[in-house]
Amino acid sequence: MNKPFVIAIDGPAASGKGSLAKRLAAHLEFDFLDTGALYRRAALNIIENGMDIADNSAIINQTERFIPKLHEKYDDSALRNDKVGNLASIIAQIPEIRALLFNFQQEFAKKSNKGAVLDGRDIGTIICPDADLKLFITASTEKRAQRRHKELLLRGLHVKYEAVLAEMQERDERDNVRLKDHLAPNIKNHVIDTSDMSPDEVFQTALDFYTSQSR
Ligand code: C5P
Repeated sequence: MNKPFVIAIDGPAASGKGSLAKRLAAHLEFDFLDTGALYRRAALNIIENGMDIADNSAIINQTERFIPKLHEKYDDSALRNDKVGNLASIIAQIPEIRALLFNFQQEFAKKSNKGAVLDGRDIGTIICPDADLKLFITASTEKRAQRRHKELLLRGLHVKYEAVLAEMQERDERDNVRLKDHLAPNIKNHVIDTSDMSPDEVFQTALDFYTSQSR
């Protein structure tokens, strides 16, 4: 059996990596895993169980019990809010939580038939260090905050741009520990700065990298 072709896509929040990953997977008929959703699901589970977020060991125990449920279907729309996103980025700092989610992600990549696209923060560095193609998708903080703000307005949520920007900066600060690892010279990333690119241009650039890599 041929080894599946694995594409690792990393980058900060609202860089466009999620939409790109989904589109690439659909185009190439690869399996797709949004690893941020795993952290969000673990966070939602903590919220739903009314847990004290300062109690790390209770959070770790609860998440350990939650791991088998990762295989179940879930409602993605319940994950797409800032409360869940922020708690996800807080619990993502706990090494035991990252370790608990590690196997599910690695197995997903290994078990895929034709290929897999995974997007997150540590895919090319920790989860799939041997990925066949590694993309690092980025954009200026302001551009990312503008995109997120527009998205929220479209969903009928009237929040101030300044508040979205501040939250983005806060989240970046927490996530930067992992994102900085992608700058190590041994990590063979293709960097795409999407600040001034349309989604189509981003997709085409990524597809060109794939085509040259898969020859
Ligand atoms: O990508 P998304 O915004 O859905 O991720 C939510 C949070 O989960 C991120 O802010 C990040 O802290 C965390 N995360 C992570 N590693 C991943 C994916 C997400 O630490 N591979």
